[in-house]
Amino acid sequence: SPQPYVYRAMGRSIFEVTEEKLTKNTRAILPVHIYGQPADMDPIMALAKKHSLTVIEDAAQAHGALYNDRQVGSIGDAGAFSFFGNKIITTGEGGMITTDDAELAHKARLLRNHGMSETRTYWHDHLGFNYRMTNLQAAIGVAQLERIDEILKTKIALAQRYKNLLKDVPGVIQPPDVPGIKNVYWMYSIRLDEKFGMTAEALQKVLRENEIDSRPFFIPVHELPMYEEKGGYPVSTELSKTGLSLPSSPKLTHEDIDRITSVVRKATG
Ligand SMILES: *Cc1c(COP(=O)(O)O)cnc(C)c1O
Repeated sequence: SPQPYVYRAMGRSIFEVTEEKLTKNTRAILPVHIYGQPADMDPIMALAKKHSLTVIEDAAQAHGALYNDRQVGSIGDAGAFSFFGNKIITTGEGGMITTDDAELAHKARLLRNHGMSETRTYWHDHLGFNYRMTNLQAAIGVAQLERIDEILKTKIALAQRYKNLLKDVPGVIQPPDVPGIKNVYWMYSIRLDEKFGMTAEALQKVLRENEIDSRPFFIPVHELPMYEEKGGYPVSTELSKTGLSLPSSPKLTHEDIDRITSVVRKATG
């Protein structure tokens, strides 16, 4: 079983921290397998069970990632995968829901197709949507699926190279190696602390000057205007300020990784 991930800044478990945020209106927990690293599902499932909540895994960035030998997207009540253009495999736009709940699968199929009955034509017994994937997109998806093992192998090898080449750079915090976890490294994402001597934003600028693209971490939901809530999630805020995703395409060569890491090493010097 994996070591419980610790909500490091506070030395507390994800169970405790999440439980505190539940209200009488909470219906579901939506863990995100961010950047290809599985969320710590055991405590999340235990918490959901304790409070009779639904768990919907956001596996949009984590196709093929494993938690205790289980595929992400197969642990909660349902999982959602994205096949947008920049994801691990793609159909241009689109995605996939996974569930082992036959009733839920049936309902999802209805809602996808304008809520139209599967047995009576033009009979709409649900208010639905048009979330259908075209056959053309599905054909691309099938071809992508044939390549997924090779894509994942390449991404993991590139991540390993990053990890080795950055391991002794002061102030660079790498994704942790967690026992029982297979991280598929959708993005190779690092964090910088004060020992690095430069902010993530400044490093992004240096990389850009060397014609290397990078991305800051996501802005936490609670900082966006429609969900604005001040001061409530200090760990998310800290992560978003200190994180940077390095180039992670499976098309990169080992020489590319060598050049990128050498720019990171010399950035402050
Ligand atoms: C891309 C992404 C989504 C959205 O997926 P779409 O297919 O663009 O709707 C949701 N969550 C995460 C974590 C993502 O990376």
